[in-house]
Amino acid sequence: MVTAANPRGSGKAPDRVRVLIVGGGYVGMYTALHLQRQLRAEMRSGAVEVVVVTPDPYMTYQPFLPEAAAGNISPRHVVVPLRRVLNHCRVVIGEVTSLDHAKRTAVVTTLATEEEAAGPLELGYDELVLAPGSISRTLPIPGLADHAIGFKTVEEAIGLRNHVIEQMDIASSTRDPAIRDAALTFVFVGGGYAGVEALGELEDMARYTSRYYHNIRPEDLKWVLVEATDRILPEVGEEMGRYTVRELRSRNIDVRLETRLESCADRVAVLSDGSRLPTRTVVWTAGVKPAPVLAATDLPRDARGRIRCTPQLTVEGVEHAWAAGDAAAVPDVTADEPGRECAPNAQHAVRQAKVLAENLVASLHGRPLRRYAHKYAGSVASLGLHRGVAHIYGRKLKGFPAWFMHRTYHLSRVPTFNRKARVMAEWTLAGLFKREIVSLGSLEHPRAEFALAASPPPRDTDVTADSSPDAHDTTPDTTPDTTPGTTPGTAPGASAAPPDSAPARDTGRPGGGTSDTSDTSGTGEADDRKDTGTATD
Ligand SMILES: Cc1cc2nc3c(=O)[nH]c(=O)nc-3n(C[C@H](O)[C@H](O)[C@H](O)COP(=O)(O)OP(=O)(O)OC[C@H]3O[C@@H](n4cnc5c(N)ncnc54)[C@H](O)[C@@H]3O)c2cc1C
Repeated sequence: MVTAANPRGSGKAPDRVRVLIVGGGYVGMYTALHLQRQLRAEMRSGAVEVVVVTPDPYMTYQPFLPEAAAGNISPRHVVVPLRRVLNHCRVVIGEVTSLDHAKRTAVVTTLATEEEAAGPLELGYDELVLAPGSISRTLPIPGLADHAIGFKTVEEAIGLRNHVIEQMDIASSTRDPAIRDAALTFVFVGGGYAGVEALGELEDMARYTSRYYHNIRPEDLKWVLVEATDRILPEVGEEMGRYTVRELRSRNIDVRLETRLESCADRVAVLSDGSRLPTRTVVWTAGVKPAPVLAATDLPRDARGRIRCTPQLTVEGVEHAWAAGDAAAVPDVTADEPGRECAPNAQHAVRQAKVLAENLVASLHGRPLRRYAHKYAGSVASLGLHRGVAHIYGRKLKGFPAWFMHRTYHLSRVPTFNRKARVMAEWTLAGLFKREIVSLGSLEHPRAEFALAASPPPRDTDVTADSSPDAHDTTPDTTPDTTPGTTPGTAPGASAAPPDSAPARDTGRPGGGTSDTSDTSGTGEADDRKDTGTATD
């Protein structure tokens, strides 16, 4: 028997229950999958409807982003298509912009909202599962919003890969040593697993790629890791964290502990130790904060903005509302000290989703709920091909064994047999052939070539001295001839595609146009996130 939680809430037949899941990431997708299995009969009969609202039609397996950036896994295999795996749920591609739980109503904007000019959708529900995850936690550092890039999405990972290779192309072809130095300097801020793994994989990829450049040696590339505390990778413990610092330094990576980024305006990274590093690449991985939508709800939040939860994963003091994952403050009942909460990571998110779904089903069937209890098992991290570090279930591993464990662990964890088989096939092929070394940044601007062809020829009066081939040859060289489609005058962008990779030609997209070339703020790219990820695959 299914008990309708709030028959009036959704304005539907009283015997019908609508579960609204906000977010299609780890918690959202796994919760929906469990509900789909456990409520199969009810969902088939129409007694229960599960609606998943999420901005992208896929779940991203974030631990594979560093490998995607390195080119070891193609972007399509890092994501799981929600419509296929959640075939008994209703998947709405959109964003919940606000939520009135007292009225059991969510306001949703979709891709069609703007075109319809009819305002956003109002979606009623009976049970709410809040799982919108987190976004990068930034600080008011000059230049950060304009020039840095995060590392949380597949678009950012692929954009960064293209950007790094593109910088090598610029460095290889410029005649200006200052441009070359800035292009070959890569600054990563934040020594957690996202920053360390991204840096480790990209450095390894760029080192390999440099073999194919006649004038770039691996030691010409300058990689800097900036960390505010005195250790990196806290997830693998102190000893393994120290090992990781030694391993990275042995690869000529400049690890600066107890150092902060103070500014990255004007394409110069200024650090708290007084150093100034001209660079076009600042990658910000210094922590996360809860998704902004949580502030637009009437649900209780803690000081850090996460939804306050009970150990049963219900929202504290509220009926028919559930939360888990990065967006939720869930008490860690296994901790020795009272008052501790579960860390925001996939290990908890996956397990919480299972308990949340079981408890939601139990509540619909009038059964008691159980507590979420999982003792953190430790972590594994890849530091590049054949290098890794691990501290899991009390066992410490480094080098090849840790890297192998990282791969087998994540292969066993990545959702669906389909993805496992594809990732396995890619790793096997990568072992047989040479690595991919091209930048496909131009795929982020598919209309550029056609727009150029279709644009009217310039009138005589439009032709200026600068546009003649001779004039170009004699102009002081800041634009490398061999890298069409790049704009060396700009810095990595705030979004998926760093502005350095913006085409010099009209993209024909909103926010694009010829202004792309002069968009040093990177904001011209920000709206185009959705276009880029899949196109680069
Ligand atoms: C590079 C990287 C590597 C990582 N490696 C590891 C690792 O090795 N081990 C580990 O344990 N953890 C790892 N993590 C952390 C882990 O991925 C997260 O803790 C986990 O994804 C949290 O799950 P979630 O469901 O809460 O959020 P997410 O998986 O981020 O899902 C949130 C979803 O909600 C959607 N959403 C946001 N706002 C709205 C809205 N308003 N309306 C509708 N939908 C919305 C988002 O688009 C997203 O799809 C890594 C993270 C990163 C970035």
